[in-house]
Amino acid sequence: MNVTDCLFCRIVAGEIPATVVYETDAVLAFRDIRPKAPVHVLVITKQHFDSVVDLGADPAAASALIAAVGEVARAEGMVEPGFRTIFNTGPDSGMEVAHVHAHLLAGRSMGALAG
Ligand code: AMP
Repeated sequence: MNVTDCLFCRIVAGEIPATVVYETDAVLAFRDIRPKAPVHVLVITKQHFDSVVDLGADPAAASALIAAVGEVARAEGMVEPGFRTIFNTGPDSGMEVAHVHAHLLAGRSMGALAG
């Protein structure tokens, strides 16, 4: 994918507005526009990776993303009650945006994973 066509790269570039809740040099976290839970934050790397598969080849970026998930959960007060983290990858997952992102879902009981 041409990164200039990537929705999340455009959010990183400030071309599309987002409700940013956390930011470092490497990562950005913002509220999902169609929240599936009272807290629904997307945590992304600023560098474009198509998916978590590609992210795995860059341990520093992967580490930054995981650390940011923890920081956002802490800032949202969701470490104690708990939260769910999802990485969608590919068509069967329902992935809509091919720029690696962790969904952080919290604020209600998540129940069992759908089978
Ligand atoms: P996925 O299906 O895993 O690719 O998730 C993509 C997520 O991005 C969906 O939950 C969308 O609601 C969310 N989304 C799409 N456009 C925006 C946007 N402009 N700002 C925030 N979240 C968005």
